Amino acid sequence: DNIIKKLSNPIIINDKEIFCTLSIGVSVYPIDGGDMPILLKRADMAMYLAKVNGKNRYEFFDIKILEILNREFDIEKGLRVAVDKNEIKMLYQPKIKVDTEEVIGFESLVRWNSKSLGIVSPSEFIPIAESSGLIIPIGKYIISESFRKCKELTLKTTKKFKMAINLSEVQIRDEDIVSFIAESLRICDLSAEYIEFEITESIIMKSAEKNINTLEKLKKLGVSLALDDYGSGYNSDRILLLISPKFIKIDMDIIRNIDSDPECKIVENIVNYAHERDMKLIAEGIETIDELKQVIKLKVDYLQGFLLAKPQYLPPRIQEDVIKLIQLLNEK
Ligand code: C2E
Ligand code: MG
Ligand code: MG
Repeated sequence: DNIIKKLSNPIIINDKEIFCTLSIGVSVYPIDGGDMPILLKRADMAMYLAKVNGKNRYEFFDIKILEILNREFDIEKGLRVAVDKNEIKMLYQPKIKVDTEEVIGFESLVRWNSKSLGIVSPSEFIPIAESSGLIIPIGKYIISESFRKCKELTLKTTKKFKMAINLSEVQIRDEDIVSFIAESLRICDLSAEYIEFEITESIIMKSAEKNINTLEKLKKLGVSLALDDYGSGYNSDRILLLISPKFIKIDMDIIRNIDSDPECKIVENIVNYAHERDMKLIAEGIETIDELKQVIKLKVDYLQGFLLAKPQYLPPRIQEDVIKLIQLLNEK
């Protein structure tokens, strides 16, 4: 814990802040092995698990690790053919504007129903897709599908629904990404103003300058950026300024504890900071009326969460959700 805590502050090298994450594997003599080579090998496996479980953490070796590594192997194997086998589908979760109580857009969320493994959650397979590089082709499919759906909505409704698509750091590092997005917009005959990309602070961890450069190119195309899961990670003002997103999404863990003073203060600070800089706030993961009341009181601009509307296929239930939502907001 101490080692990870020490490294959580940026390291200053040549006046630049370098952010570093640390994954640690631990094996214990003599339970996990009687000599150095076996202990090291097992510590290495535990470290691998720490990476798979989200990095910046430690894991102890456990004999179950072998099962976990096998599962990961199966997932990677399944992912290689998932798009071709038509196993990847998108769901769309509504985002609601507080002052008008209207659905203003959707976040596209990937779903994988594998013939061999069953339903695998994105929190499990996205990290594996990232570490194996498979997020590049799968991510392109996701972008194309989401653009297509967005265009369909512009044709089927008179509202200008925006589509938000999650982009992982690995996708941003892909040389092709900007031209792929530009070309996909052209193919769909879709204006860039409809599109928003959700990124996280992790884009600063690797190739920070190059990634920021890519984000600038994306902004020039006319798409907007939202900083996802804010408040859970580094919470650095510098990262916010570097990325300068149009929207900040407050992490669901903070929303869950929004009744407690520290969390409430965090949100208050983020709201003030963002509004002074012409950025808008989105509260995600709202599950209860109390959370809803609280975020509205704290002057968050947009809402998202199971209480209001779950991720869903579109467009059949847009209207029902709007009605349910307006009722909820009127009860607040
Ligand atoms: P995220 O972008 O922060 O997405 C929000 C997650 O919270 C989604 O989980 C969503 O279904 C869930 N959620 C929404 N409202 C609520 C709520 O009220 N309560 C709770 N408990 N959960 C709520 P999901 O779809 O499982 O996705 C998990 C993560 O996987 C996403 O977090 C995102 O980081 C990644 N992901 C999902 N789809 C994609 C994608 O198409 N591309 C990429 N690169 N990453 C994706
Ligand atoms: Mg997101
Ligand atoms: Mg999020």
